[in-house]
Amino acid sequence: MIRFPSSPIIPEKILSGRYLKSALTLCLLLMTIFDVNSVGKSKTTPYRDLEKTIREKYDSRAVFTWDQYKELLKELKDPKFRVLPLHEMADTYDSTRVIVGLRHDVDFNPFKALEMARIEHLYGIRATYFLLATAEYSGVFMGSKLVRSKGLKALYRDLYETGAEIGIHNDMLTVMILYDIDPYKFNHDELAFYNSIRIPVYGSAAHGSEIAKKTVPNFQIFSDFSAKDSVSYLGRKYPLGKQSLKECGYQYEAYFIKHNIYLSDSGGKWHNAEGVSGVLQRLRESVPGDRIEILMHPEWWGKTEQKTP
Ligand SMILES: [Zn+2]
Repeated sequence: MIRFPSSPIIPEKILSGRYLKSALTLCLLLMTIFDVNSVGKSKTTPYRDLEKTIREKYDSRAVFTWDQYKELLKELKDPKFRVLPLHEMADTYDSTRVIVGLRHDVDFNPFKALEMARIEHLYGIRATYFLLATAEYSGVFMGSKLVRSKGLKALYRDLYETGAEIGIHNDMLTVMILYDIDPYKFNHDELAFYNSIRIPVYGSAAHGSEIAKKTVPNFQIFSDFSAKDSVSYLGRKYPLGKQSLKECGYQYEAYFIKHNIYLSDSGGKWHNAEGVSGVLQRLRESVPGDRIEILMHPEWWGKTEQKTP
């Protein structure tokens, strides 16, 4: 029990009458300033408007549940596995463990990415999120510049602060062919943007954009992987392989990280496995020395369960 000194520090008259009234007024004023109404409610974020737009448009596309995702993460917590973001997977070889690189290409819903990264954080698992400059969420192209969406910096910081690695989902062919921008200069500016918000970037992962499907995979922009020195589209020639991966500022390209098992949920369907249970089966069958790259698009995850009436 706390005992006040015999000679009270707070004289009695302060605790009564007009002094008390003044103190209460001051309290009310402070409560107004600090907006106590927001206590207990979700924090207002700089990307609130963007989140509303993107979620209204894309959240309903999810086909897998977070419970299913947690099943996968629980399996990956087995000591047999060592789960790493891709820039760590690239340099990690261990014949006594199964090395797993978790790759997330964020094609249209970075808010599902944020949910996913927070779940991974709870499981102590880290992955790599590849962010796409040509996606609706990034912003709009005006002239030769990408005008970024409001709150994008805060969103990317929040994603990074979960402990995830951030990479570039490379769509340089779209930038070059559709927007008529020098892709190497654009890439340089993108990396400068991430540097300005203190997010290190080590790697890129080619995006399967419409233009890429009609021409060549996006990784052919790098001299390391280009089959030819140019590509034609609607009668015009565009250069390829003018710079190497390293010259573009990257240590790795996700498709070229050494692996012997590749699992992907592209298009909302599991490839090389029968559904989520098939993926779990493949993981259980894997043996030390295996190297597994798992590509999951956050937008296919977090399906809301239909409540039965
Ligand atoms: Zn993609």
